[in-house]
Amino acid sequence: EPLKVLPTAVLHTQCPFCSVQCKMRVEEYIGESDGKRPTYAVAGIPNAASEGRLCVKGMNAHQHATSRERILHPMIRKNGTLLRVTWEEALEAIGSRFRSTQSLYGNDAVAVYGGGSLTNESAYLLGKFARVALRSKYIDYNGRFCMSAAASAGHKTFGIDRGLTNQLSEIPLAECIILAGTNIAECQPTLMPYFTRAKENGAYIIVIDPRVTATAEMADLHLQVKPGADVALVNGMLKTLVDERFTDYSFVRGRTKGFDQLKERLDRLNMDEVALETGLAKEEIEKAARAYGKAKTGMIFTARGVEQHADGHLAVRNFLNMVLVTGKIGKEGCGYGAVTGQGNGQGGREHGQKADQLPGYRLIENEADRAYVAGVWGISPGELPGKGVSAYEMMELIDKDAIKALFVMGSNPIVSNPNALLVERALGKLDFLVVADMFLSETAQLADVVLPVTSYLENEGTLTNLEGRVLLREAGRPAPGEARHDWKILCDLAERLDKGTYFPFRKAEEIFDELRVASRGGVADYYGITYERLRKEEGIYWPCPSTDHPGAKRLFERTFVHPDGLAVFQPVDQPSPAERTSDEFPMIMTNGRVLSHYLTGVQTRRSPVLAARDVENFMEIHPRTAARHRIEDGSLVSVRSSRGEVVVRGKITDSIREDTVFVPMHWGDAQNVNRATSPELDPVCRMPDFKSSAVAISPFEQP
Ligand code: SF4
Repeated sequence: EPLKVLPTAVLHTQCPFCSVQCKMRVEEYIGESDGKRPTYAVAGIPNAASEGRLCVKGMNAHQHATSRERILHPMIRKNGTLLRVTWEEALEAIGSRFRSTQSLYGNDAVAVYGGGSLTNESAYLLGKFARVALRSKYIDYNGRFCMSAAASAGHKTFGIDRGLTNQLSEIPLAECIILAGTNIAECQPTLMPYFTRAKENGAYIIVIDPRVTATAEMADLHLQVKPGADVALVNGMLKTLVDERFTDYSFVRGRTKGFDQLKERLDRLNMDEVALETGLAKEEIEKAARAYGKAKTGMIFTARGVEQHADGHLAVRNFLNMVLVTGKIGKEGCGYGAVTGQGNGQGGREHGQKADQLPGYRLIENEADRAYVAGVWGISPGELPGKGVSAYEMMELIDKDAIKALFVMGSNPIVSNPNALLVERALGKLDFLVVADMFLSETAQLADVVLPVTSYLENEGTLTNLEGRVLLREAGRPAPGEARHDWKILCDLAERLDKGTYFPFRKAEEIFDELRVASRGGVADYYGITYERLRKEEGIYWPCPSTDHPGAKRLFERTFVHPDGLAVFQPVDQPSPAERTSDEFPMIMTNGRVLSHYLTGVQTRRSPVLAARDVENFMEIHPRTAARHRIEDGSLVSVRSSRGEVVVRGKITDSIREDTVFVPMHWGDAQNVNRATSPELDPVCRMPDFKSSAVAISPFEQP
């Protein structure tokens, strides 16, 4: 019998990438001869969210975590070069530089920039670090670009923002499903079986997307809408629903307010104008509305395609109007879901990384909220800084010299912000830039100090998946080299700033226990969730106000979260502030993701298997548009906006509208799509208008 080879280590962990947070088992096999690299075997662990599935990103995540490109020790820039130093030297340099900057220019001269992939514990501690250790009002994070429109819309309509209002397992029970601006097949692939099961059960699936994506291929009806016209499209669908008596009046009268104003708006709506604005036949819009209206159960999902617009907040609110008109919420097989992109996109936005929020979704401008959190932190409410600005606005303030030093943790702002050339210029102006990362990202390459952090194989903590289900990721492997956990770095830095007494934590669980108290009684109440429970249960949904509470699997069964218990309609009739095409910039550029990469690609570009699947950036273009612009398949193309130029490879496909081009978001430098994207911000949630920038395209000519 052949000898069975046993793994030298077995790790139970969670995928570090998207918001499904698939559980996995990673087996490590170390070779016999010295110096031989270990090999790995990866398999999904069945749990209630991912049911044991993994996509290609999860299967290969260990490749970046075990990459030779990992930063293994702190570095300080000396004479233009980043050189290895001890932790002692790095922490001392940061502490003394932050202190001198603040004594010269004030506390707000030092800003903090976080990320939606940090664990709940690190996200919580980063918010506390900015406000208690630095006493700066400037903190925001890359989740501003991810979920802010859905978050603000959920708060205004329902009084609460949780990704899904019910569980993934209810998807197969929906008779009609609308997937708007969400390419689940590539971005959250392990969710697809929920939708195929729904289809097998007879569900009618409507996909709203300017591209024929892998997700659109399963649709019964694909509305290939013009980028940025979602508000108009939903107005058309709402009009059909109301005019053709699909309104659930009992629900509308008993559970909502503002319907009359919505109806008044819809009565004035001209469907021919809607057709013109959306680029769709009005019959298609009516057909979609009827399918959703007729179905007894139904779910609507939105993602960045709807949300990343200068009117993203209103676009999501309009989809929520559809949910309310038909009363398809708070019941089995009915609900709304904002499909989060980042691994901890949900939890990352709940614990105080946002400029306007404190833990538990408390508001930094609300006196009672300030007093409560200040009490938990052991400071007076007067010591808590006020509201800062959103992520991109922070870059503008740096560019105007109003912020002098920046601490970046778990993010690559130079690639992820819109108008990237301004961001590059701004970060170059900083007196002092500190980046904590696993790799020398495009942003870390500009830093004065770089701090090495641990990966998903090494760092313990909780993450909250797109359902609002809190999951515990246990630590498996020792940190490589001198890498430290994010939260440990924050504690060490606080010590250097003479605020160590507020950061006495020795393990992630202790931080979580403080987070539980800080969130207690807030909208996102984690008080009843403990590590002990998480080790026994398959994740726990918030709100969970006590340790004997099962967690809220389905929201809004009897009441919404506004003080009067009612949901609020929002009529939408203002024109989008989005950039318009012109003779000089005649095409609409939209952006998005591909299956094998995550965010700005810092991790996935360092995984050989994933990098090989998509080695460079590209631009999808319709064959007729390509012919008009003399663009050949596979040739280099220049994509220019009023802000900058991106050079990518042309990919001719009839899966995109003739007036639109699509460029993914995972590459930096000259391939960075954000050199051209529009920084117009949504007036409510400050989401940039990533998804509809006016551009000119031409064959690239070497200068
Ligand atoms: Fe699961 Fe998302 Fe990771 Fe894929 S990327 S394995 S879907 S968590």
